[in-house]
Amino acid sequence: MPLEEYRRKRSFTRTSEPRGKKAKSASGRTFVVQHHCASHEHHDFRLELDGVLKSWAVPKLVSTEPGVRRLAVQVEDHPLAYGKFEGRIPEGQYGAGTVDIYDHGTWVPDEDPHEGLEAGKLTFHLKGRKLKGAWVLVRTGSGGGRSAKPQWLLIKRAEPAK
Ligand code: MN
Repeated sequence: MPLEEYRRKRSFTRTSEPRGKKAKSASGRTFVVQHHCASHEHHDFRLELDGVLKSWAVPKLVSTEPGVRRLAVQVEDHPLAYGKFEGRIPEGQYGAGTVDIYDHGTWVPDEDPHEGLEAGKLTFHLKGRKLKGAWVLVRTGSGGGRSAKPQWLLIKRAEPAK
């Protein structure tokens, strides 16, 4: 049940976030970055894979500067419908604050994304309006402990001059 944790954390009678279900977009490879002003401002970076949005919280915001490493903490899978969500999460609810879509588009894995996620190195290209080009997510640690979340670095890769 890939969305179990997502649902467990939220009261859908109180938040307007989608309950959602496994679903596939036309391309099957959408991405979205949401600007989330909660207790701490951050970006939520989400890649569609296997009917859900694989998700990372990026506390210092996504950087477009090649080589700059940004911590990306992997969080629970979100439903595909979450990629369209904007608005206010009420006080007292998980992630209370405001959510705006910073960018969206499609992503293209450079290699098998399942193997990449498993191995802790996912290389891909983004085709968004603001975010374009080559990126990599590198897992640096499990976080340790039962409730800890896997930590990754999100890095813009330089591309050879054309
Ligand atoms: Mn968030």
